[in-house]
Amino acid sequence: MADEVPGTRTHHEEASLDQLYRDVIFEHYRRPHNKGVIDGAEIVTKGNNPVCGDRVTIYGKLKDGKLDDVRFEGKACAICMASSSMMTDAVRGKSLAEAGAVADKFKAMMRNEVPFEALPEVPDIEALEGVRKFSVRVKCATLAWTTLKNGIVEYEAGRGGASTEVSCTTE
Ligand code: ZN
Repeated sequence: MADEVPGTRTHHEEASLDQLYRDVIFEHYRRPHNKGVIDGAEIVTKGNNPVCGDRVTIYGKLKDGKLDDVRFEGKACAICMASSSMMTDAVRGKSLAEAGAVADKFKAMMRNEVPFEALPEVPDIEALEGVRKFSVRVKCATLAWTTLKNGIVEYEAGRGGASTEVSCTTE
């Protein structure tokens, strides 16, 4: 498991931008938002990225059809932890459809399928843009979002409450 954020630039400005992004990622890594377990969560979903060793469990508590509380726990690299932290900020308060759409959009951005843009709920997310250059690490960044989306799909299929395991190796 590597805790460093990859990327060595030769150009000075790009290097300092990388440093800024590294700082943002490490700040989320050291003090992740919404970390912990939710007792009685309707959505409990697990994700696993064996390439890096990242494992996360995501909890979603619903109220009036919206994600009233979203938390995560796990052992993962800095990119995965930071992205999980940002994910919880991005989807809290959203309906399941909205949360699923945000997760899909983020994954599409990380896979270079759509242009990268900061999410209004999580401006910090642009710190992950540089990760797109490292295809192996993209899975670290998308794990929490893939896992959440899978949990939403399972919940809507009537399998809420059950743990679902998703592996990112096929993503
Ligand atoms: Zn990782």
